[in-house]
Amino acid sequence: MAASDHDLKRYLEMEALLNAFFAAFGYCAATCIPDELPKSGNRSVAGCCTQRYYARYDLDHPAFERLRQAREALYGTPAEQVRDHSVSPCEYHDPRRGCRLATHKSPTCLGFLCREAIDCLRREHGIHAYDYAGVSGALEWILTGDFTDGQYGEFREAILAMTRRLTPSTGAGPPGCRACGG
Ligand code: SF4
Repeated sequence: MAASDHDLKRYLEMEALLNAFFAAFGYCAATCIPDELPKSGNRSVAGCCTQRYYARYDLDHPAFERLRQAREALYGTPAEQVRDHSVSPCEYHDPRRGCRLATHKSPTCLGFLCREAIDCLRREHGIHAYDYAGVSGALEWILTGDFTDGQYGEFREAILAMTRRLTPSTGAGPPGCRACGG
């Protein structure tokens, strides 16, 4: 396997783990969007997708072009997206169901958690390890192949540990958590 394929495969593995983490957290669907809808007269909201974040990278590296090509092969180019009743400048945002990219998001999109969500993670779940800039930077380095195997293993385990904390064996979240409805 070429190094670039290996790096993209690792990136997509981390994306799958982060998607499981965000699903277990549930903040956006359970707390953010229901809070935002009344403010917009119950019309669709863009949430945190207020720019074309799929195009934002910190590094000048061909790995980001490979990710873009793989994304567009699966989901189409930005120009090919249907844009009816759009509420976000991002072409991949669907006003009915949010981001159309189930996979192959950019590191900026994938790692993002807003301040309120990070506060909820800390306050309600005792998770203090989620650092948006750090996660996005780690994802970039995984994609460019600049993470060592040891760093990759530590990052992977940190995501799994946070997810385990959100999904204890009882299946119930801590009392009073709005994100999980406990
Ligand atoms: S690509 Fe998806 S997550 Fe990123 S800004 Fe657009 S809709 Fe939001």
